Amino acid sequence: MLISAIQKTTLLDYPWKVATIIFTTWCNLRCSYCHNSEFVLPEEIKLIKDFIPEKVFFNFLKTRVWILDWVVICWWEPTINKDLYDFCKNIKDLGFLVKIDTNWQNPEVLERLINDWLVDYLAMDVKNSFSKYALTTQVEEDIEKYKKSIELIKKSWIDYEFRTTLVNPLHTFEDIIEIAKALSWAKKYYLQNYKWGNTLVKDFNWKSFSKSKLKEFKKLSKDYIENVYVREYDE
Ligand code: SF4
Repeated sequence: MLISAIQKTTLLDYPWKVATIIFTTWCNLRCSYCHNSEFVLPEEIKLIKDFIPEKVFFNFLKTRVWILDWVVICWWEPTINKDLYDFCKNIKDLGFLVKIDTNWQNPEVLERLINDWLVDYLAMDVKNSFSKYALTTQVEEDIEKYKKSIELIKKSWIDYEFRTTLVNPLHTFEDIIEIAKALSWAKKYYLQNYKWGNTLVKDFNWKSFSKSKLKEFKKLSKDYIENVYVREYDE
């Protein structure tokens, strides 16, 4: 597993629980508003000199057995790492819970992890309505893979959340209604506002939404999904 960074302790990722977050590298998507080109684009990844060796990470974990509850494996896309299964197994063997942040493009990988109880929570990024997925991720993908992941989560025991980063003007009310309809059975749906940053595609002028627009997105989603939250300033 290529570990680019570790946030040793956070209480923010999982309420009331102490977590450590590890950041992987590589991503199969190219979202134009992505802030993380240095961990996504192969030509930039090559420039990284200091990956954190797994051994160092596991030695750190062993010193935190009584303090940490969760290990969060996140961006850029953990499921494309071939050794994710063994990596999760090693974490579970130490007694930690595992959360994975994913763009849910690899249903087979997720299924194996779920079936073997190697993941306890999935945070699934929904990039946009299906009709605008390729436009948003800049990759022509097989939408059936996403549908397969949705079915997998729907049928499984696992705890999860779906979430969408709202980018102005990439996301419209119609898009969010389409997503909310498709996920009407979901337990939790989070809406996150885009924050300006050093984006993958430089010549777009993406913006965040106003608070009133975010409220409107939430209201529209709640017509279909019971628990909808806005991250940043939930009311
Ligand atoms: S924002 Fe898109 S391109 Fe960037 S890490 Fe996430 S899924 Fe990959």
